[in-house]
Amino acid sequence: MRRIVAAVLLSLFLSLLVAAQTAHRVAIRAGKLIDGRGDKPIENALILIEGDKIVSVTPGGSAPSGTEVIDLSKSTVLPGFIDAHTHVLLQGDITAEEYDEQLLKQSIPYRAILAARNAHIALTHGFTTIRDLETEGAMYADVDVKNAIANGEVPGPRMQVATRAMTPTGMYPLLGYSWELKVPTGVQYVDGAEGARKAVREQAMYGADWIKYYSDRRYHFESDAVLHSMVNFTDEEAKAIVDETHRLGKKVAAHAIGSDGIAAALRAGVDTIEHGDGLTEALMDEMAKRGVYWVPTITVGVYVAPGRGGNWEKMAALERENFSKALKKGVKIALGTDAGGFDWKKLNQAKEFEYYVQYGMTPMQAIRAGTSVPAELLGWGDKLGTIEAGKWADIVAVSGDPLRDITELQRVMFVMKGGAVYKNDVK
Ligand SMILES: [Zn+2]
Repeated sequence: MRRIVAAVLLSLFLSLLVAAQTAHRVAIRAGKLIDGRGDKPIENALILIEGDKIVSVTPGGSAPSGTEVIDLSKSTVLPGFIDAHTHVLLQGDITAEEYDEQLLKQSIPYRAILAARNAHIALTHGFTTIRDLETEGAMYADVDVKNAIANGEVPGPRMQVATRAMTPTGMYPLLGYSWELKVPTGVQYVDGAEGARKAVREQAMYGADWIKYYSDRRYHFESDAVLHSMVNFTDEEAKAIVDETHRLGKKVAAHAIGSDGIAAALRAGVDTIEHGDGLTEALMDEMAKRGVYWVPTITVGVYVAPGRGGNWEKMAALERENFSKALKKGVKIALGTDAGGFDWKKLNQAKEFEYYVQYGMTPMQAIRAGTSVPAELLGWGDKLGTIEAGKWADIVAVSGDPLRDITELQRVMFVMKGGAVYKNDVK
């Protein structure tokens, strides 16, 4: 009996020893470390990583013997970026025709292949985490992309996904085709409070981490100089969506561009406001008071405005004004770009950081807006968004100093996600 116990203990000890040896240990020597917490970079920092997690961060110090050292001593090292608003299943839709063509001429499997490519582009640009905010007619294919990445089948960022999104019947494309044709829709049509609860349950069942709904459409300026809009859902329906989502332990993102759409979304109790061009001071105060996040998606607004004409240029200008006001009022601003609303191959989504600095943030504030703030938005504040012991080893590096020139973040040279290196162009 004693011998059996001894044998069991010995094998347990050996297996622990093997586990300790196989957990890959890496050290990064960072010339400058912006850890996402302090106000000043740490010079010559040493980051120790074991498996997929950060074990320690120290100024100076030397790596334990036998540890593989990645030399980033001439680089600035930062936490992996987070984009809180993307569409991996979309390839740009400046015009309605571009949108319709994707839904009508591309199969969902083909779109999913492009989505995997887009996820890879995001990762090589330094985005180690994204919140993908609806598939635009590609059903639940975002769940498949997310799972393929999580299972290590294809390279890409960590993902939280919203699946299909919701509007009431007839309030989102494809529209305008003969009633004899059954055309795909860019969202799930949802009507009535009971229908809303059922749709939330259905999307959650198939893997939605977030529920997204379109609060408004038809954006227009009125004589009061406020950007108004037509609200899609009745208050009863919107509240049912939010209530059911929260009951299931998930969160709600609302597309809301005009002041009326933003006000309706806030009345319903959503967790994040997407775009938000038409924010008024009263709405900003409300968001600051309740801790509702604003995801401004400046990149897409500026990019599509010339091609769309109409009010879009004026809306982009209004958003710029509102950005500095919201910043002063302490609204939580999380970086989101709407990548997919512009072609993934044509624009680096890290351009969003540049707009935030142009619109009034300090470079350090902009960096936090794209790291620790969206980490909290995702409910992953304890797992990512900063470089500190215990967090996932999601780490990027650039060669220059982004605190002097924020466009450095558009030239990421090194990408690590969960302790694995996906890109290293540092010479
Ligand atoms: Zn979007």
